[in-house]
Amino acid sequence: RQEQYRALRERAAETLDGVPINLQVNAGLLVDLPQLEDSGAAGIGLFRTELQFMIASSMPRASEQERLYSAVLDAAGDKPVTFRTLDIGGDKVLPYLHQSPEENPALGYRAIRLALDRPGLMRTQLRALLKAAGGRELRVMFPMITELGELRQARDLISREFTYLTKFGHVMPRRLKLGAMIEVPSLLFQLDELMKLVDFVSIGSNDLFQYFTATDRGNARIASRFDPLSAPFLGALKRIVEAGNRNNVPVTLCGELAGKPLSAMALIGLGLRSISMTPSAIGPVKAMLVALDAGKLANEMDAILAGTGNARERLQRFADEHAIP
Ligand code: PEP
Ligand code: MG
Repeated sequence: RQEQYRALRERAAETLDGVPINLQVNAGLLVDLPQLEDSGAAGIGLFRTELQFMIASSMPRASEQERLYSAVLDAAGDKPVTFRTLDIGGDKVLPYLHQSPEENPALGYRAIRLALDRPGLMRTQLRALLKAAGGRELRVMFPMITELGELRQARDLISREFTYLTKFGHVMPRRLKLGAMIEVPSLLFQLDELMKLVDFVSIGSNDLFQYFTATDRGNARIASRFDPLSAPFLGALKRIVEAGNRNNVPVTLCGELAGKPLSAMALIGLGLRSISMTPSAIGPVKAMLVALDAGKLANEMDAILAGTGNARERLQRFADEHAIP
């Protein structure tokens, strides 16, 4: 297997019928970086900036943040990196950031909600990102956006920092691309409006599924009770893909779904052309990819979404019938 994946590394990430698929990796620390090269991935689709904060014993200084972001961009070279701004709160607690306990942390004071209330924290991070990416492309996305006002505020913050740093003579990124994570179901009902405010979107399927089905993603007793490979959830993902196409906005998915070959196959069937996953999944997903006739699956997908049968079983049958690993 390992040998087979190594051989695949040099092969273009393209389906059997010639559809190119952008395979990227998720990362969060310096130690993850060699895996970008080793896996042969096209870039870092999700850089979880909170990890630096979670392993520290006190708030990382602006200079430390900047140093990390700069090292990440150096290591990535020409490959794109998408930084996600701090996604703390909820189950991701920082011992040195005083927060009061919450009854429902997953529904609580976290991610962009906390960041917009504590703009000092967010501004420090945005400044570090802008400085680290001087002269290069910078891609930034915001987690847990629930309504568009939050996205407008976040965009305002970064453009204010951009102006400020420019005034003080810092070299700014050559290009700035801003995106939103789609992980709260409310966004499904304002997709066209959302697309007008962003350069790209990234589906956080872990949280989106958690909120879609009201099922705590960390609770083992119910974790496998509902299946993301079901018509309602796949239908929701399809709406996002279609809205992206309609508005000419690239759509990526960076949750766990992207790293399981059968699920990744379903995503391509829905029309996704870019997915980001844990580095060890690149080999297995690529093995699936090169055996997949995307056109044939797209036809099958319509029937699966319209049908009342078990979507996972139908997808598995399709994979088996076409010898897709
Ligand atoms: C997600 O929610 O799918 C996601 C990628 O973000 P995280 O797992 O870090 O919450
Ligand atoms: Mg998430």
